[in-house]
Order: sequence, then C-alpha cells, then structure tokens
Amino acid sequence: MRELVILGTASQVPTRTRNHNGYFLRWDGEGLLFDPGEGTQRQMILAGVSAARITRICLTHVHGDHCYGLPGVLSRMALDGVGHPVHLHYPATGEDVVRALVSVSSPGIDLRLHPHGGSGSVAEGLEVRPLRHRIETYGYRLTEPDGRTLLPDRLEAAGLRGPDVGRLLREGFVAGVHLDEVSIPRQGQRFAFVMDTAPCDGAEELADGVELLVAESTFSDDDAALATQYRHLTAGQAGELAGSAGARTLVLTHFSSRYDDVALLAAQAGSRAAQVRVLAARDLQRVPLPERRRRQDAAPQAGPADRTHCQTGARGTE
Ligand SMILES: [Zn+2]
Repeated sequence: MRELVILGTASQVPTRTRNHNGYFLRWDGEGLLFDPGEGTQRQMILAGVSAARITRICLTHVHGDHCYGLPGVLSRMALDGVGHPVHLHYPATGEDVVRALVSVSSPGIDLRLHPHGGSGSVAEGLEVRPLRHRIETYGYRLTEPDGRTLLPDRLEAAGLRGPDVGRLLREGFVAGVHLDEVSIPRQGQRFAFVMDTAPCDGAEELADGVELLVAESTFSDDDAALATQYRHLTAGQAGELAGSAGARTLVLTHFSSRYDDVALLAAQAGSRAAQVRVLAARDLQRVPLPERRRRQDAAPQAGPADRTHCQTGARGTE
C-alpha cells in the first residue's frame, strides 16, 4: 500500500481552507511524516491516519510551518504507547530548534535523532540533497530497489512452482532455469519531496525520473519577484522542474495565503510540464503512487494480469 496523504497545504500563514504543511507517505510497512506544521495532529485525525503508523519523520528545515507540529505528534505517539523506534531526520544546523521541540514533547517513545549535513543516504532507500532557501534546507528522495516481475506462464512452461520459485528469486538459477528467462526487469518506484527552495541542482537531482514529486509552489508566476526574494518556487518553476526531470505526477503545495483559488497555479505548472499529471493539493486529499513504469527494453511479453511482482532488492518480496 503506497499513497500520499496531504495533511496541510499552506505556507507561512494558514487559511480557512488550508492547514499548515504536513504530508504522510504510506510506503508498505513504513509511514513517513514530512514537515509537520502546526495542527498536524488534528489533520491526521481528520484524514484517518493513526499516529502509531509513523515510523520516520523528515524535516526539510526548521521554519515553523515545517516543524511546529512536531511536539503534538510526538506527544500523541507517547500517549498512544507507540513501542517501535521512530527516526527523526533534520538538517544538523537546526539541532537547537529540534531539541527544543523534542524537549517539550511528552517522553516515552523510542525517538532516534538523525541530523544530516550534506548530500547522501540517511536511511535505506532514503536520500537527501541540499536545496536553496534562506536557511539550510534539504529535500528527500525515496527509492525502491529495482526488481523483476515474474511471468507465471513462463514459470509454468519451465515447470517451476512453489518453493522452487522462492529459490529462483534468492539464487537466480534453479533446475537449469535462469531468473532472466522467466521474468522481466521492473524499475523500483521513486518519490521526491522538494520544499522551500529556489530552483537549484539539488531539486533537479531529487526529482529525476520519480513517479511522484511533491513540490512547493508558494507563488504564482505573476509574483515571480517575491519567489526570488524569499527563495521559493513559482508554480511555473515547479512545473518546469517536474517536466525536465521526467516526473509522472506533480503535487503542488505550500501555497501562499494570498491565493484563494490555486487552479491558476496548477495551470501555470501544467503549461511547463506537458507530459506530467499536475495536481494542486487539497488538505486531506489522498494521492496513490502512480503505477510502476514498464520497461520498454523488457524482452518477454505477457498480459498485465499474468504478471507477478517480486523484488530482488533488500526490501523483500511483495
Ligand atoms: Zn515554508
């Protein structure tokens, strides 16, 4: 089960219809909470997301609209008796703010702090890249390892079933049959989270080829001067980022309170990203991860209904 739950879509100032930032990514057994602004705990209740589902919290930076919801969420997790470890990722230069927020939270959960100070991997499949904002800010990218999709008709023809299939996945070769002969390559899914930033290399690296890109679009193209001044993206710049990166779906968010209707921002982004599905996020909206890409270079062909997904990477099978 993979989906993004939008908890809030406002930037600095919330509105009658938009809560401060907050995004919950359900990714198989993991629950990643990104940038919990004020009111995130209540938005989770409205969205039907249990705080006990959170396994990892990722902060892009320590401006209030991206982290003031942290004590409430952590306290709720303590109240609910969450027993599993909870990993908190944040820029190392935000250490004082993060420690202050954690210090006013109810104790009792196994919270593990993971400050980062540069590009790279921060957990299995999770990377960060620096963005360009007024304080140190990092975006996140989640990557599933590539795997292979088994073709049941080919397995049948090869006489493989039951435990032999498991062995084939583990060892790549069983009873004279190579895994390659009965499967096709399958690209892992990718998700990127690009918050407060001016256009920059880090944003482009994060967005490269992702199925789902969440990108801030604080300002309309008509207010490009403000975007430059405060180091934010306009909607058109977010569209250009998604289009040039080859993203499948772009979710625009982090809207300035000056825009009641953000349909114009979606149109501006869409005009710069012809091949991309563009959504202007609404509070409490759910966005499923787009389907996996089919590799054009895969040799054997079979109908979609005949396929069985598997994974040869470290995250196990599905
Ligand atoms: Zn912000």
